[in-house]
Amino acid sequence: MFKLAIISPKGLYFEKDVDSLTVKLTSGYRTILSKHAPLIGALDYAPMHIVENGKTKYYAVHGGTISIKDNKVSLIVNAIEAKEDIDISRAKAAKGRAEDRLNKSDINTDVKRAELALMRALTRIKTYEEN
Ligand code: ATP
Repeated sequence: MFKLAIISPKGLYFEKDVDSLTVKLTSGYRTILSKHAPLIGALDYAPMHIVENGKTKYYAVHGGTISIKDNKVSLIVNAIEAKEDIDISRAKAAKGRAEDRLNKSDINTDVKRAELALMRALTRIKTYEEN
C-alpha cells in the first residue's frame, strides 16, 4: 500500500492509500506498487486505474506529471474524471466539434487547441467504453 495524491487545476482531487496504480506515461503504461523507486515522468492522455481494497477503479487522465518519492505518488493532471462521472454524450459531442474544426481548418483555426480537445474527448470515450 502507498499514498496516492492527485491534484487537478480545481485543487486536490483525492489523497488516499491504494494497492496499485496503472498509468500511462509518455514512455508507456506502468504499474506502480509500494516502495517504487523515485521517479519523475510525464503523463499521457489515457485511461488509468487504481486498485483500492481489492477493488479496481477507472479514471480518464488528460496529461500531467507524476512524481514518486518515499512511498508517496503524486499526480498533477490537466484534468481527470472517474469513469462513473463521465458524461458520454458530452464527450461524443466534443469529439464531433473538434473533428469538424480540424476538417474545416483554415488560417484562423487553432489546430493545437482542437487536437487537444479531440484527445480529451477520445480519452473520455475510451475510459467509458473499454473498462
Ligand atoms: P467540453 O467541450 O465538453 O467542455 P472539454 O474537453 O473542453 O469538453 P475540459 O476543459 O477538459 O472540457 O473540462 C472542463 C471541466 O468539465 C473539467 O472539470 C472536466 O473534468 C469536465 N468535463 C469535461 N468533459 C466531461 C465529460 N464528458 N464528462 C464529465 N466531465 C467532463
